[in-house]
Amino acid sequence: MAGFLGYRCSVCDTHYGPDEATYTCPKDGGNLDVVLDYDHIRDSVTLNDIETSNDHSIWRYLPLLPVDDPGHIGTVLRAVGWTPLLAPFMLREKLDLPHLWLKDDGRNPTASFKDRASAVVVARAQQVGAEVAITASTGNAGAALAGMAAAVGLPAVILAPKSAPPAKVAQLLIFGAKVFLVDGTYDDAFDLSLQAAQEFGWYCRNTGYNPFTAEGKKTAAFEICEQFSVATNDSDGKRWQVPDAVFVSVGDGNIISGLHKGFKDLKELGWIERLPRLFGVQSTG
Ligand SMILES: [Zn+2]
Repeated sequence: MAGFLGYRCSVCDTHYGPDEATYTCPKDGGNLDVVLDYDHIRDSVTLNDIETSNDHSIWRYLPLLPVDDPGHIGTVLRAVGWTPLLAPFMLREKLDLPHLWLKDDGRNPTASFKDRASAVVVARAQQVGAEVAITASTGNAGAALAGMAAAVGLPAVILAPKSAPPAKVAQLLIFGAKVFLVDGTYDDAFDLSLQAAQEFGWYCRNTGYNPFTAEGKKTAAFEICEQFSVATNDSDGKRWQVPDAVFVSVGDGNIISGLHKGFKDLKELGWIERLPRLFGVQSTG
């Protein structure tokens, strides 16, 4: 939190202080990137501090996150991240890719990568004193918010398109979220959630809108570099390793931009020497 300087608009490059913006650029609606004080972070934490942390979750990277420690109330938040980097031997052989690794984020508390974003967003919501959190979602992001919010006793409202898979809606309800099925597409649910957030003063988690989602997602990049340095066994334990390429599934692009932010943070800090190539992968249609 001490290293949180504010935001920078990805469109017009305007800088905003931590209290001068909330979601998007007030001038042009562009997405905001969180700006960190790399000098401060470099002075206050070392790679060794992180490597020897007993916290096996995204919170081992707290000095690089723009939120405060969620504290004892955040027990479930503390179960997010530090997912395994797996060596899929049969798949390596089948694809003839001997150095293929898989990061299994299905191990997160609500079973998806979205927990990373929701844990950081909920920590932020607590900091700003939010009374209700809202998001539009077709499934995983909503489940992640519902689960993380329930963990800290924060009421959650999820707007899902009517076509959302029933199993996902059930997961939202199990976590005690208030669910509204919107007669329309995800985009309609998105627009409606912005209106509701504005009208009722609720804290909005929407992906591609709330800058703290990417800050949560970037933790996967930190883990990849830290775990990869151990897995590949060609490091002295002090220098984190960067894979040649990272393949990531892409919807609206928030995960891949979050990963990019994570690798960029590490490079700015001088903790890695280069960025990996990032590939976005989408299913046909
Ligand atoms: Zn702007």
